[in-house]
Amino acid sequence: MSMFIPYGRQEILQEDIDAVVAVLQSDFLTQGPAVTRFEKLIAEATKARHAIAMNSATSALHAACAALGVSQGDLVWTSPISFVASSNCALYCGAEVDFVDIDPATFNMCPKALAAKLEEAKAAGRLPKVVIPVHLCGQPCDMAAIGELAKKYGFKVIEDASHAIGGRYRDEPVGACAHSDIAVFSFHPVKIVTTAEGGCATTQDDELAAALERFRTHGITRDPNLMENASDGPWYYEQIDLGYNYRMTDLQAALGCSQMQRLDGMVARRHELAERYDTLLADLPLDLPFRHSDGYSGFHLYVVQLKLNEIEKSHLEVFEQWRAAGLGVNLHYIPIYRQPHYAKMGFDKAGFPNAEDYYSRSISIPLYHGMSDAQQEVVVDTLHETLR
Ligand SMILES: *Cc1c(COP(=O)(O)O)cnc(C)c1O
Repeated sequence: MSMFIPYGRQEILQEDIDAVVAVLQSDFLTQGPAVTRFEKLIAEATKARHAIAMNSATSALHAACAALGVSQGDLVWTSPISFVASSNCALYCGAEVDFVDIDPATFNMCPKALAAKLEEAKAAGRLPKVVIPVHLCGQPCDMAAIGELAKKYGFKVIEDASHAIGGRYRDEPVGACAHSDIAVFSFHPVKIVTTAEGGCATTQDDELAAALERFRTHGITRDPNLMENASDGPWYYEQIDLGYNYRMTDLQAALGCSQMQRLDGMVARRHELAERYDTLLADLPLDLPFRHSDGYSGFHLYVVQLKLNEIEKSHLEVFEQWRAAGLGVNLHYIPIYRQPHYAKMGFDKAGFPNAEDYYSRSISIPLYHGMSDAQQEVVVDTLHETLR
């Protein structure tokens, strides 16, 4: 019997199904009371004043850039080792994108590289308006250092926390925005908590929260304090900026509410599996994930790096052997500047040696909270057989 073990997958229990069915039989299918409940759960879990749910993290990143005023002529910087949505959000707003190389140990935006690039940008009069650090694999970035630089150089910070719900930075949950303006989470099924498609922005700032809420629904407000004209009657609302329909449905939010009840257990199980990998893979020619003591990872991904000079196979050969053995391994991510849409903007990969090294030898192996010990042993055995 062959068994396929994906790199990540959702866990849907009967209680999740019951929660969604209950909404199907209720008055609201689109944004309604379940979205409000879900936002309250996210706000409580992250210690954020505001949580604004949307139909994806991509939408929430777009809304976050817009709320911070990103527009034509502005610059936005992010990490090259991320999903393309981390930088596309800036392009949606007409801004230009640039990348800051990663730290080879954490795979996150390197604060030293950021500081050096900011010094150069200041001299050239081309400072970024927004910087988007990405908590890759769920491990929090060095947010204190990035927050210091934000104050010094006057840029805003959006945390792409798509991998990191349930994680902590120092003593705060990721999403508390202690060193940032807005944090964004994804609830895609391969992530940690799922709403099928879905995302959320968190912030401590009342005005940003109002702007995010307007952006997800056409730029419309019903707040008389924000209106330009006097009300014509009880039906009255005003569109005061340009927004979109980025709303989450109550069906999605009900699934999210049910999943959020299990958040701590999900992340704890991911840590347990990660620690077992650390032990069971320790004597293979692999660099295993480094854990910074400032953070508690959400552990969306477990990335191993091949020590290519100790292995007689290429990165591609190892990857193909693992796939052939039934492991749904993947590579997160191709450096964004290598994507044709970005390459034509003229990036030079020589400027990102750590991202290039990462891309040359990394593989995400299966890790999800519903994974059994037996499934994990299949993964471990496959790695031992192919690397010995
Ligand atoms: C998944 C992901 C996104 C986009 O999330 P969606 O909810 O699918 O839009 C953005 N950034 C990162 C780092 C991601 O992994």
